Amino acid sequence: MFIDAPEVSAETPDLKSYDRIIVAFSGGKDSLAALLHLLESGVDASCIELHHHNVDGDGPVFMDWAVTRAYCEAIADFFGIPIYFSCKLGGFEREMSRDGEATAPIKFEVPTENGKVVMYAGGNGKPGTRLKFPQVAADLSVRWCSAYLKIDVMAALIRNQDRFLNKRTLVVTGERAEESTARARYLTMERHRTDLRGSEKKARHVDHWRPIHGWDEGKVWDIIRRFGIVPHVAYQLGWSRLSCMACIFGSPNQWATILHVFRERFEMIEAREAEFGVTIRRSETIRQTAAKGQPYPVALENPELVALATSHEWNVPIAVSPEEWLLPAGAFGENAGPT
Ligand code: SF4
Repeated sequence: MFIDAPEVSAETPDLKSYDRIIVAFSGGKDSLAALLHLLESGVDASCIELHHHNVDGDGPVFMDWAVTRAYCEAIADFFGIPIYFSCKLGGFEREMSRDGEATAPIKFEVPTENGKVVMYAGGNGKPGTRLKFPQVAADLSVRWCSAYLKIDVMAALIRNQDRFLNKRTLVVTGERAEESTARARYLTMERHRTDLRGSEKKARHVDHWRPIHGWDEGKVWDIIRRFGIVPHVAYQLGWSRLSCMACIFGSPNQWATILHVFRERFEMIEAREAEFGVTIRRSETIRQTAAKGQPYPVALENPELVALATSHEWNVPIAVSPEEWLLPAGAFGENAGPT
């Protein structure tokens, strides 16, 4: 399982003790750095799985970058690591549009001897109504998108696969303390919410490790450069974090950029604000937010990057030599993204 024995620090779990290491892989620099850290620590790629949660579900893009799925697949292929996609059916838009309906089932891929099959779970909850965007807040009960579209999806796919029973699983995520005061309070190592190690009937040992919790952004870009991995196009367009393209936490500059180079998307979101009569920021419309910012110059000057961002194919190299590797325009930029 291991190429070399890794250095084990007080905050590093005994990686050899796990049957499976699953990385919550958004395609952003932090989950990428977490994956690269595992590989650099000597973990054999054969015991790693990547799991990507599609924010927009199985339908057309609404909030997210169109190319993200293809980018994640390109990374997985490059390292020869399996990737499994999962989502809440209908994604962000269906959840936001609930009007007296239960939250949608979760769809996830499961490995088989010959490939993958698709399974579903949930969908029998109590009826509820949202008819507004999530609130721009750290509290996940009102900023429901992170919980319903990512955290709960990972939990459901673990709880609904017997292959995790009587095994030791390590869930790896890429949150860093530097990103926000809320994230600074996260533990580096804890039991995962799906852990059932004490159960007599269905035992499941699941730990949750945040290996780069203490890293600064420079350290993140350093490891990506060492591996020569080309960052997601969002960073090349000026975004400093890979959240959804139209993340509710978007800065004035980001909304201004979307208005200028992804106008169709902007108008789609704007139409939903008008329909609900409740705006993302509650105090102003996205058009008013955009008016306070300036589009990222790199996005205005590089139509080929804009085209890549709206494509469903990653049709450029995924890796280059460390000497050729370029720090993207968005690196060390404004900290606009989920708290
Ligand atoms: S990236 Fe932003 S909009 Fe997307 S799920 Fe996270 S907080 Fe919500």
